Amino acid sequence: MKELVPFTPYDHAEEILPVLSENGFSVSEEALKMLSDYENALLDVNRYMNLTAITEPHAVALKHFADSLTISRFIPENARVADVGSGAGFPALPLAICRPDLRVIAIDGTDKRVRFLRETVEKVGIRNAGAMTGRAEAVARDPSFREQFDVVTARAVARLNVLAELCLPLVKKGGYFLAMKSVLADEELKEAKKAIHVLGGRYIKEEKMKLTGNGETVERSVVVIEKILPTDPRYPRDYSAIDKKPL
Ligand code: SAM
Repeated sequence: MKELVPFTPYDHAEEILPVLSENGFSVSEEALKMLSDYENALLDVNRYMNLTAITEPHAVALKHFADSLTISRFIPENARVADVGSGAGFPALPLAICRPDLRVIAIDGTDKRVRFLRETVEKVGIRNAGAMTGRAEAVARDPSFREQFDVVTARAVARLNVLAELCLPLVKKGGYFLAMKSVLADEELKEAKKAIHVLGGRYIKEEKMKLTGNGETVERSVVVIEKILPTDPRYPRDYSAIDKKPL
């Protein structure tokens, strides 16, 4: 194995703070320090484990941190949140750091990413976040997780018609599924209308937004779906069935 040069962590506050402020997010000193420590852990481990293609510090601030925080305003106070397919922790960890009132669980099917998440939560001292290894469709059949969350989020995991079947069964009645999407959202939404209805959801709105930082602009959208009825126990199906024949 190739020898790695020792990683030198540094304080990323000067890159993170202007990007968050430019997009209307205010953060406490403590949260800023935690985001910086998280970034150091991400960049360090990313040298030998594939966690993210975004490594330039301003881009991390914009496309990982600010982007993760776009959904904060849709999340009620003290909510129990599950992030499906969290990967290296987006949006789960920035949300937990900036919203200490939430209880956040990051779910991912890849054990090595979950190990990174657990170590990072420990190292950074994120007291209101945890991580579990599991496929969402299996976790959602477990009664201790099924329909237990006020909010379920997902970014960059699957098309909306597939994602709805992975996420909506985890949402409790009256709670919300927040799908983080880029510019394709309109087309995906049309394709997912039936799945949302069959799974007990109701489409509320799609909010489009532009995030800016360091001269760059990215377009994003958040699809807000309310859970109005319990999900039929037939769902979620196995992943191969969901993927082959989305609802
Ligand atoms: N949400 C993160 C982000 O935006 O940076 C990670 C996105 S990454 C492209 C997709 C992640 O979803 C991977 O870590 C993968 O292991 C996970 N994943 C895909 N399908 C899943 C499923 N059915 N259940 C749990 N995790 C899943």
